[in-house]
Amino acid sequence: MNVIKNNTAELQKMDRAHFMHPSTHMRQHADGETPNRIINGGKGIYIHDTEGKETLDAFAGLYCVNVGYGRTEIADAIYAQAKELAYYHTYVGHGNEPIIRLSERIVKSAPEGMQRVYYGMSGSDANETNIKLIWYYNNILGRPEKKKIISRWRGYHGSGIMTGSLTGLATFHNAFDLPRAPIMHTTCPHFYWNAESGETEEQFAKRCADDLEKMILREGPETIAAFIGEPVMGTGGIITPPKGYWEAIQAVLNKYDILLVADEVVTAFGRTGSYFGSQHYGMKPDLITIAKGVSSGYLPLSGVIIGERVWKVLEQGSDKMGPIGHGWTYSAHPVCAAAANANLDIVDGENLTGNSAETGGYFQKLLRETFDDHPLVGEARGVGLMAALEFVADKDKKERFDANLKVGAKVSAACLERGMIARAMPHGDILGFAPPLCITKAEVEKVVDIAKQAVDAVADELA
Ligand code: PLP
Repeated sequence: MNVIKNNTAELQKMDRAHFMHPSTHMRQHADGETPNRIINGGKGIYIHDTEGKETLDAFAGLYCVNVGYGRTEIADAIYAQAKELAYYHTYVGHGNEPIIRLSERIVKSAPEGMQRVYYGMSGSDANETNIKLIWYYNNILGRPEKKKIISRWRGYHGSGIMTGSLTGLATFHNAFDLPRAPIMHTTCPHFYWNAESGETEEQFAKRCADDLEKMILREGPETIAAFIGEPVMGTGGIITPPKGYWEAIQAVLNKYDILLVADEVVTAFGRTGSYFGSQHYGMKPDLITIAKGVSSGYLPLSGVIIGERVWKVLEQGSDKMGPIGHGWTYSAHPVCAAAANANLDIVDGENLTGNSAETGGYFQKLLRETFDDHPLVGEARGVGLMAALEFVADKDKKERFDANLKVGAKVSAACLERGMIARAMPHGDILGFAPPLCITKAEVEKVVDIAKQAVDAVADELA
């Protein structure tokens, strides 16, 4: 077939005229004031565009392309499955081979006590499922008042109506009439900014847990159903938990019979250097949200892994209520499952979790060595293959830059000029890194080298 493709200028014109992009300044885009890059390929940790420009993607798309770009094994698996069975629903007990295999491998690799996986297409819809399951669970247990869900300021859990409410970032609330009840936000465990002077990480973690307990007591423990948190905060600024944090939080949740949802959309399948972030931090979740890394973004797939405590009650619920009234046309899609199996074959076969620990450890070390004494960098932090640089106007006094200077965005732009994508996180002056898990040590050196040039250039510009 002879496919005639449009040239870049034609595509950009059509794009600006007809396509509404997510997270984009709509008016500036329509008027051609902001860049419109059209991506048409990728290999390993690099992407390229219709103008022939190649860029090192140190954010793996949106921290999802964990196995890297251009993996033909996954493309082949998608093709083979689409030819055999492109779709059949999974309602009323229908299954398909790839989803059955995928469910078995996920449950076997998940933290102890996990029982079943329910599938969706995005992290947002998976967290919507979590909320519904939590409410259903408490209704079945005869506790209709136990419905509130506590999330954290700067947590990110999606941008739907309820999941946008769980998200603790103003950009996702403003002018959308969010957050909605019954969702509340507690202290963000950001040691760098929120710890008091002289406070240790353990003391700060204990204070976060105390804040949570105070909120629970104020609201009434009989009204609090669940707590949701990312093992390492992602979109809120790649914030690792202070020492002892999850242990202290878990103790409070246990005391008041509150479920724990670990939102592992970013951290599951190797990113922290452990297969699940919950395993890395010794969390004991009742529900785990997965998405991104399960298919490395080759096709959309998400899921909720359901632990024993909830699963038993869901089973009882069916006896009382009949079949569960929850399901989507594309839940457990066979082609997405085939992509996920081929993806996890690579993750496991190439030991990308091990690479995340080892090359990630090297990356963390290099970042700290390079930036710990840099006048523009208040903190270099991270775990495995997720990291951040937090920029400050005054390192000694710990003063932020005026937000209008957009320092984080400037450094990100300076990285792009030098051929690398590192993400300006939406809140604060933070540059985020989350490269594909197949990155090598030499590539990591390149990432840090470009980041250094970019930070130096912005420091010079601001001086
Ligand atoms: N949860 C976390 C921790 C995420 O990082 C994201 C997306 O970045 C989501 C949920 C929402 O996932 P999606 O964008 O696929 O809806």
